[in-house]
Amino acid sequence: MFKKILIANRGEIALRVIVACRELGIKTVAVYSEADENSLHVRFADEDVCIGPARSADSYLNVPAIISAAEITGADAIHPGYGFLSESAYLAEVCEACHIRFIGPDPNVIRLMGDKARARRAMKKAGLPMLPGSDGPVESEEKAVKVAWDIGYPVIIKAVAGGGGRGMRVVRLPSEMGAALRTAQREAEAAFGVGDVYVEKYLENPRHIEFQVLGDHHGNLVHLGERECSIQRRHQKLLEESPSLALTDKIRRKMGSLVVDAAKAVQYTNAGTFEFLLDDGKFYFMEVNTRLQVEHPVTEMVTGIDIVKEQIRIAAGERLSFKQSEVTFTGHSIECRINAEDPETFAPSPGVIHAFSVPGGPGARIDTFAHSECTVSPYYDSMVAKIITHGRDRQEAIARMRRTLEMTVVDGIKTTVPLHLKILAEPDFVAGRLGTAFMERFVPKAKPGSLAAAV
Ligand code: ADP
Repeated sequence: MFKKILIANRGEIALRVIVACRELGIKTVAVYSEADENSLHVRFADEDVCIGPARSADSYLNVPAIISAAEITGADAIHPGYGFLSESAYLAEVCEACHIRFIGPDPNVIRLMGDKARARRAMKKAGLPMLPGSDGPVESEEKAVKVAWDIGYPVIIKAVAGGGGRGMRVVRLPSEMGAALRTAQREAEAAFGVGDVYVEKYLENPRHIEFQVLGDHHGNLVHLGERECSIQRRHQKLLEESPSLALTDKIRRKMGSLVVDAAKAVQYTNAGTFEFLLDDGKFYFMEVNTRLQVEHPVTEMVTGIDIVKEQIRIAAGERLSFKQSEVTFTGHSIECRINAEDPETFAPSPGVIHAFSVPGGPGARIDTFAHSECTVSPYYDSMVAKIITHGRDRQEAIARMRRTLEMTVVDGIKTTVPLHLKILAEPDFVAGRLGTAFMERFVPKAKPGSLAAAV
């Protein structure tokens, strides 16, 4: 087992990894930017190293600085968390070259899944059902119109290197294709440095269903069931739950075994998430995220498996200690992402939190870096806390979420707490009638050409 792990991240996920390391008796190294000097992840790690100024590009994305910090402190592994460098095949390779273990899949698998067009081809070959679309990147308007003609409108243009819902455009008419293609290519180039895009059939209101997998280096691979992440705004998840009301046992078993086979086909190791769209009883592969997900706690709550500890054990070469038949699911879990945002306009609301309190109580878990008098920096992601509840059934999980949110105090900045209370009060939510268009009821109709009209 590792003696010391460097956590190449910040915020709640850095604390989450420290929690796992403490339980395993492993020492930790925090890295931080100048903006995060007083953060809890720095306080609770055994050692800490400043890796640069506030701008992510100069600190949390700075591979040489992170590797140097690992070498100076003698860390034998790096956990990348999510976001930042978590899906960087380059970091994984540099780690390998420096004899530092990267806690994640093999760099080749990260690279394959990081190119969504290639991932689609590989997963189709491995037996996963696909939405109709282009076989690879589409360069010209002519080709895009041809693909759309074959598969039928509406279609969605997506960035090959996509992530965070960026670089996507829905196209409903051939006359819109040229402009949409150019905008998507430009956006993708700006966000990911790669302008390639592909085209697939667009579904109006599908459900987003994803499967969590864990694979060791001895050929054992299991899935930990599904998460429903259909409550999204601008294709970014807001609220997630497990299990999904939309899956019958039969579909769950079928998807689970297809996912396990597909993951084995690419010799997948460590934690990963296979994302699908579910529409009219049929499911279609979307992408694989080769890292820990923000919403991993709902799976932990229903399975009792600590995914971060499993990631660490797997990276250290241990065998999975359980078989698929030993993975059991108990009750229901929901996660609300509490963002520092205006709940009406969604404008970011960074600043100082003057008072912070989230009640615990049965079935409530809070993953956060926030505390009274802490600063929510404008430099980084706006998520300040994840509130996760667990109940014997969905109704109890919802009741626990409602009372936790009602008793949450965050003074000084605006948060999405009121928005989550509105979502939980919606009859469609309570009845489980979910889809990726669910949030449209809360969003003022966007003017054409505005950001909210982007997809
Ligand atoms: P990213 O990697 O940017 O998060 P994903 O491929 O995971 O992109 O898609 C994010 C979200 O975008 C999905 O959860 C869904 O809401 C929407 N989406 C993506 N592809 C389609 C599609 N073909 N039809 C309808 N919605 C889609």
